Amino acid sequence: MFILVLNSGSSSIKYKLFNISGKGEMLLDKGAVERIGQKVPTHREALAVILDKLHSRIDAVGHRVVHGGKFREATLVDKEVIKEISRFSEAVPLHNPAAVMTITESMKLISRVPHVTVFDTAFYQTMPERAYLYAIPYRYHEKYRVRKYGFHGTSHRYITRQAARILKKSIDRVNLITCHLGNGCSITAVEKGKAVDTSMGFTPLEGLIMGTRSGDIDPAIIPYIMEKEGMDMNAAMEMLNKKSGLLGISGVSNDMREIIKAARSSKRARLALDMFVYRIKKYIGAYLGVLGKVDAVVFTGGIGENQAGLMKKISGGVLPKNSKTLIIPTDEELMIARDTYSLVS
Ligand code: ADP
Repeated sequence: MFILVLNSGSSSIKYKLFNISGKGEMLLDKGAVERIGQKVPTHREALAVILDKLHSRIDAVGHRVVHGGKFREATLVDKEVIKEISRFSEAVPLHNPAAVMTITESMKLISRVPHVTVFDTAFYQTMPERAYLYAIPYRYHEKYRVRKYGFHGTSHRYITRQAARILKKSIDRVNLITCHLGNGCSITAVEKGKAVDTSMGFTPLEGLIMGTRSGDIDPAIIPYIMEKEGMDMNAAMEMLNKKSGLLGISGVSNDMREIIKAARSSKRARLALDMFVYRIKKYIGAYLGVLGKVDAVVFTGGIGENQAGLMKKISGGVLPKNSKTLIIPTDEELMIARDTYSLVS
């Protein structure tokens, strides 16, 4: 079965084409159309460019969706799916509106084949209430569905499966702490193969220190700085999402390679790196407490996959002797293709 996986952002669509059957999985092609809005006018034209390039039969399409609200697993697209994705557009304004555009346009351009949505949030629907609720008045949860949703779930789910295979354990018997460290960073506690807690929250802003996101912060700091600086809510959100994290502390870059280079001469780059590592250690310690017993800490993402030494140092300081440190390259698109295959076939 030829499966096209589409991963759309506000100004780009990335794609991979797989051939998946009962016998195996093969990546046939991959690429991206970038600068939508400049180079190509809209997501529709970007899709046309991709289809032109591929020139292939397509039997099904798998869509990555960042925020899937209530959905617990991959789902065939229908009106209710589109409604739920649109409902969470405010929480992830760079991702969900783009996904809706790509889904609706691709259903017109690649018609008569099943379209499947795979949600980053789905992996976290197994978290218990005590982990996903915020201790604010309960009515906001009831009225607006404010809760921890978690993100990067497709990546955490993929590395959980891979880790179980490497550890030679069945998935429902592994306890893991999985760390996705890329531009965005998140960490998840996995008990018997299921997510029981994660660092990202109602939006991807919570948790670890990221390239440009602050991660955890005392919420009272926000109105305090807004008042001092005469900032409105949009500017405050922009500050926390785009100007904080490694970039905000170092003043050098949001890119870990640059931070590592600059750390030789810049005190603030060293501080950014130090804070980044410290926050991860704190979360690993907390999730050890949540899980009790941990088979392995798993690292992935651009930083996790390329800084093995640093990752071993991070986990080595916190982990009990009998837990392993694993570095596993992630493949969210393959996971989406697998989900699409199993739903459609
Ligand atoms: P995304 O989250 O956008 O998918 P990636 O997973 O590719 O991004 O991660 C990007 C991050 O990985 C950047 O901070 C980048 O600096 C970092 N990175 C990539 N290669 C290396 C490397 N060799 N050493 C350290 N960091 C790296």
